[in-house]
Amino acid sequence: MVPTIARARVVEAKDLFELIGHTPLIRFRRITAPFAPVEIYAKAEWYNPGGSVKDRPAREIILTAEREGRLRPGKVILDATSGNMGIAYAMLGAARGYPVTLCIPANASPERLRILRAYGAELILTDPLEGTDGAILEARRRYEADPERYFYADQYNNPANWKAHYRTTGPEIWAQTEGRITHFVAGLGTSGTMMGVGRYLKEQNPEIRLIGVQPDGPFHGLEGLKHMETAIRPGIYEPELLDEILTVSTEEAYAMARRLAREEGLFVGISAGAAMAAALQVAARLREGVVVTLFPDAGYKYLSESFWFEADPPGGNR
Ligand code: PMP
Repeated sequence: MVPTIARARVVEAKDLFELIGHTPLIRFRRITAPFAPVEIYAKAEWYNPGGSVKDRPAREIILTAEREGRLRPGKVILDATSGNMGIAYAMLGAARGYPVTLCIPANASPERLRILRAYGAELILTDPLEGTDGAILEARRRYEADPERYFYADQYNNPANWKAHYRTTGPEIWAQTEGRITHFVAGLGTSGTMMGVGRYLKEQNPEIRLIGVQPDGPFHGLEGLKHMETAIRPGIYEPELLDEILTVSTEEAYAMARRLAREEGLFVGISAGAAMAAALQVAARLREGVVVTLFPDAGYKYLSESFWFEADPPGGNR
């Protein structure tokens, strides 16, 4: 089918905000076939201008703080991030004229660090052994030492994080499935995606099941529940909202990311692989239903990882 040409929008760079959200909901070709008639969809969040789902909470955090007068010209946006949120702040900060300072564990992938530097963000690299906690503590220290200089965005505790998903991601999924969604499956990092989408969906239909996904160890934007419980727990996380939590191993996430690229033409990140693996686990238990998951970002930032280039084990993972 040859697409008709719709007139593309013209926007001011400072209004990049307007291009965030309204992402496609993708239906699969091969991977989901064995689960028919259960329908499985994924929200393609790499379509956001900063390349990830985190554009949504970054926008909400920045616009809310501007409205409340906590962020104004001359202030520096400060936060701890494992990557995608930092990229979103760096992009929107550059577009709006705010300097951005990010505390980030030093073992973040070289691609992420380079993207952040390309946007002109100041990076404070923290001890990799301390993980996200080390980055959070460093951001707090800096803020407390000079509260006048910074707007501390605090994505782990800022309600604007989940509200972004309550206002945009949730309603988009509800509309795109015409209210037919029965299960929502999403990774847990700050938990903002699940808290916002989950609250919205349960309000529309309390029967909708919410399934969180955690890796077997912290990786790539997903913290892992064990980590969330033993470490600094996000203030926005309310476990009672969830119906279930599934654990996906790093190997399963890698294998699914490879399959999505090779079998569906979808070059997505590792947490998307984990989300899809969990969505299929959910679908396998159902006779019918509409399972929706969310792919936070694309595969580019993970290219330095060798798993892309490995063969699938014979007979395995398929
Ligand atoms: N996957 C990736 C790649 C991410 O960057 C994040 C956010 N850090 C998540 C998943 C988890 O999203 P949330 O913080 O909304 O729980």
